[in-house]
Amino acid sequence: MLTEFGLIDRYFKRPRPGTASRAVLGIGDDCALLAPTPGLQWAISTDMLVSGRHFFADVDPAALGHKALAVNLSDLAAMGAQARAFTLALALPQADPDWLQGFSDGLFALADSHGCELIGGDTTGGPLNICITVFGEIEPGQALTRGAAQVGDDIWISGQLGDARLALGAARGEWQVDATDLPALRRALERPQPRLALGRALRGIAHAALDLSDGLAGDLRHILRRSGCAARVDVDALPRSAALARQPLEIQRRCTVAGGDDYELCFTAPPAARDRIAELADSLALALTRVGTIEPIASSGGSTDPAAALSASAVGAATALAPIHWVDATGRTLPAAVQTSFHGFDHFDAS
Ligand code: ADP
Ligand code: MG
Repeated sequence: MLTEFGLIDRYFKRPRPGTASRAVLGIGDDCALLAPTPGLQWAISTDMLVSGRHFFADVDPAALGHKALAVNLSDLAAMGAQARAFTLALALPQADPDWLQGFSDGLFALADSHGCELIGGDTTGGPLNICITVFGEIEPGQALTRGAAQVGDDIWISGQLGDARLALGAARGEWQVDATDLPALRRALERPQPRLALGRALRGIAHAALDLSDGLAGDLRHILRRSGCAARVDVDALPRSAALARQPLEIQRRCTVAGGDDYELCFTAPPAARDRIAELADSLALALTRVGTIEPIASSGGSTDPAAALSASAVGAATALAPIHWVDATGRTLPAAVQTSFHGFDHFDAS
């Protein structure tokens, strides 16, 4: 019979890492003690994963351990921070050894690959719920915030968008995918890779950045609101897998624009940085795709193009302050009805 403390010792307490950056005091006391690297700032973020809402209860526990940490590390990546440590608050319906072993294996495989130490947490009975807080470090003034986009910046996306949403839709029976594509799509949904190396490399190159968790349409607006800008985005330029590109155009657009769960980075940078960003893509072996431009609010909202003006008014008040002007590969404005369908995911939006 596993007790609470037996469970923590067996699955979450590990030999201390040998690195110089390890915590001063880890699991086992009332608090962990963590010494900041002199001169650096803490970057701290929390994300909670709730069974039935963020994952299926019967998901592979190793994948769940990976993803619970990955979505948190993705926030550090989006700031340009270096991962240092994390805490884990866990509510479990029962202490199932197989489940706990899988979960802790998936969790620590990712933690170790980024040198991120588990320093404490909390464990309780209850409906399955996983809450992780990550601690990273960043040089003062170097963080990639949401409010730093500038008019004229290019908008860039790492990796590919939409595969996680395509996998979810396939699991829900919303659409069909080729059986041969399923393993890669499930990996995209269950094992997102936090773009920490990219975030670090973008310090001093990118202006604004964020990670895409709720879909590009909703998430890009966070940058636009914070920066007081508008954007023009080419939907056909959004990077996508061959599996997604085989779907009807409407599904491709839904998945890339409003999909969610991508955990890729969206960042803005001046056109003068294009060559450096191309070099970065090569050295990281990670696609970096230019998908649009940051514009002044007036030029997108008050366009003389009647189709653009129509769509701007139809998209409505929610987006009026931070409009995204969606165009296709030919530069044509997408119809208003298509634009309004490009909602990001909102947990409290009943529509
Ligand atoms: P307290 O009641 O004083 O908050 P706990 O008894 O909850 O302490 O936890 C004992 C120790 O185990 C603490 O150091 C805590 O950080 C750690 N801990 C508890 N649950 C976890 C977990 N799921 N993962 C890692 N460490 C944990
Ligand atoms: Mg406690």
